[in-house]
Amino acid sequence: MFLDRDGVLNVDLGYTYKPSDLKLVPGMIDGLKLLAAAGFKLVVITNQSGIARGMFTLEHVHAFNAKLIQEIRSHIPGFSFDAIMICPHHPKGSVEPFAIECDCRKPGIKLLTDASAQLNLDLETSWLVGDKDSDVDCAVNANMKGIQVTHGGKQYTQSKRAFALVPTLKEAAEIILKH
Ligand SMILES: [Mg+2]
Ligand SMILES: [Zn+2]
Repeated sequence: MFLDRDGVLNVDLGYTYKPSDLKLVPGMIDGLKLLAAAGFKLVVITNQSGIARGMFTLEHVHAFNAKLIQEIRSHIPGFSFDAIMICPHHPKGSVEPFAIECDCRKPGIKLLTDASAQLNLDLETSWLVGDKDSDVDCAVNANMKGIQVTHGGKQYTQSKRAFALVPTLKEAAEIILKH
C-alpha cells in the first residue's frame, strides 16, 4: 500500500518543506487507522524535486517527515511507516548530483520496485493513493490500482485512469478495504 505524501498526508502548499507549514489533511488519520488495522504495509512514495531545484535539502525533507510522524503519533500512538521513499531528482534542477533524468521520479516506478524488494510486497495486489494524475499513472505503470484524492490542498488534473476519485485518504481506505 503506497501513499503519496503532499496532498494525501499533509496539505500540499507547493514545495512544502518547513515543519511549521505541516498541516494534516482532514480524514488522513482515519484512513491510516483503517489501513493499519487491516494489516497493510504503509510505504510513502514522494517526489521532492525541490531538492534538485535548490529550494531545500534532503535534511529538510527528513525533518519534515519526522514532524509528520510525530503529529500522526499524537493521534495513533506508536505509529510508523514501513518505509518512506524519496525521489530528490529533476532533469531541470540545478543542484548536483540531483539534476538528472532518473527512474524514480513518479510516474517512474523505481521507488515502488525498490520498496517491494525491501519489504516483500506484491505490487500487482497493491494500491497507490495520490493527489496528482501522475500518481495514478505511476500506479498503472506498475500494474497497480491508483486512487486519486481531491481535498489535499491543490487541484490537479483529474486522472482518467484512476480506480476512484475521492476526497481524502479516509474514503480511499474504505474503498481499498472493500476489495
Ligand atoms: Mg502529492
Ligand atoms: Zn529520482
